[in-house]
Amino acid sequence: MRLPLLLLAAVVHAAPAQRPNIVFVFSDDHAYQAISAYGDSRKLIQTPNIDRLAKDGVRFDRALVTNSICGPSRAVILTGKYSHKNGFYNNSNSVFDGSQVTFPKLMQKAGYQTAIFGKWHLVSDPTGFDAWQILPGQGLYYNPPMKGPSGQIQTKGYVTDIVTDLSIDWISRRDRSKPFVLMCQHKAPHREWAPNIKDLGWDKDRVYPEPETLFDDYSGRSQQVAENDMTLEKTITPLDVKLTRPDNMSPEQIAAWDRYYGPRNEAYRKADPKGRDLVRWRYNRYMHDYLGCVKSVDDNVGRLLAHLEKEGLLENTIVAYSSDQGFYLGEHGWFDKRWIFEESLRTPLLVRWPGVATPGAVSKAIVSNVDFAQTFLDAAGVKAPADMQGRSLRPAMGGSVPDGWRTDFYYHYYEYPRPHHVSPHYGVVTDRYKLVRYYGSGPERTDLFDLEKDPLELRSFAGVAGYESVLADLEARLGRLRKELEVPAQEDPYASGALKRAPGKGGKAGKKKAPEKK
Ligand code: CA
Repeated sequence: MRLPLLLLAAVVHAAPAQRPNIVFVFSDDHAYQAISAYGDSRKLIQTPNIDRLAKDGVRFDRALVTNSICGPSRAVILTGKYSHKNGFYNNSNSVFDGSQVTFPKLMQKAGYQTAIFGKWHLVSDPTGFDAWQILPGQGLYYNPPMKGPSGQIQTKGYVTDIVTDLSIDWISRRDRSKPFVLMCQHKAPHREWAPNIKDLGWDKDRVYPEPETLFDDYSGRSQQVAENDMTLEKTITPLDVKLTRPDNMSPEQIAAWDRYYGPRNEAYRKADPKGRDLVRWRYNRYMHDYLGCVKSVDDNVGRLLAHLEKEGLLENTIVAYSSDQGFYLGEHGWFDKRWIFEESLRTPLLVRWPGVATPGAVSKAIVSNVDFAQTFLDAAGVKAPADMQGRSLRPAMGGSVPDGWRTDFYYHYYEYPRPHHVSPHYGVVTDRYKLVRYYGSGPERTDLFDLEKDPLELRSFAGVAGYESVLADLEARLGRLRKELEVPAQEDPYASGALKRAPGKGGKAGKKKAPEKK
């Protein structure tokens, strides 16, 4: 189409003023291994809708989280600050201080409409949002109650559909004179991994390829790794593997659930597998359920993209897909997250940013959930506060590693001992190495991993001849990062009194076992 010169000039002039909308689709515990765009060797699932974001935008292969657990990751994203700065360390007893500066508040001030739907998990109510409906606590998979500014509402159906419906409905009803930020935050595929009833049997009883480390014996690393309580062998519950029914189902849902799981559970009880056979049975049941939840997330990403397209919004909207952290899909015999090791340290990040992100690009730049706030503010032309601790990802959207980009990354996990007896630890990560220091769970110990020689992270090279200079370099980097990020010198916030231990196994406080929440 040819435009008269004058009109063309007006269009070009108007373009910079048109600020992009931001749709942040965020799931809970979604492993990159369960996104086909990431090309997992087990080929666990096809996710064509999420993959579309990789095709139209950038896939980040080194997207790392600062503290691999639900609530803390959300607090990092909102504030652009590490846990020791935003005060939300763990899921056991942290409460988010909603009076802090967050990116949605700054966007709101800059004229954006802001909304959040779905999983929140920060205990206090959301602040900085024009509209919100959240799942109380962890939320339920079926017919979940939701909480909004005017109280609790009851819903009917499957949580991932409902969160998407709320998002789509809000987009339709938004004030069209303003740009918007929408955070569409799924509960799925969080434990206890309950798929949509209509998707039960979606995998046709497939037998899943096993990860190489399904029967890891935890040798070759510090004792703290062996002391974990997050295995398919010892930790998983009857509810996790659907030998019992999830809560809050309707009679119709119960009937359909029983039709699927009933005969399969009967066959399991009859076979009564033991030892490795039992772990294998659990692994396959876990994969059916977990990946079934992912299937629904992917379907709903497709629905949301279709709606943006229908509204004519795709060309001026950034769509980012990520998760609060990675997850173990049987690697090291585990489910859950927490560790600095690859599967939980890395999180999926796919960004479609028309005109900025190079379609189909794959980035090896070390990026993080601490960068999201500054990225969104940058996109909106809002200056980020100087005390935010990340950086805008805009320069990395071409796919190559920008000049002067970070070459190392600081990690710190705190929650201990419950619920999974993962020792508090901190460390530094580079493109090849990791230095990990475990503390507060017995004698302090150090592991050094070499991802080039040992990609599965089965062996510590700390104290191994030939690694002296690597160790010294990593120690120096760790010290520099802790200084830059203003990590308190007191390494153990439990010992300093900043945090109280959750009651339970190995803890000093409380005799009563806390209910299983995570
Ligand atoms: Ca999570």
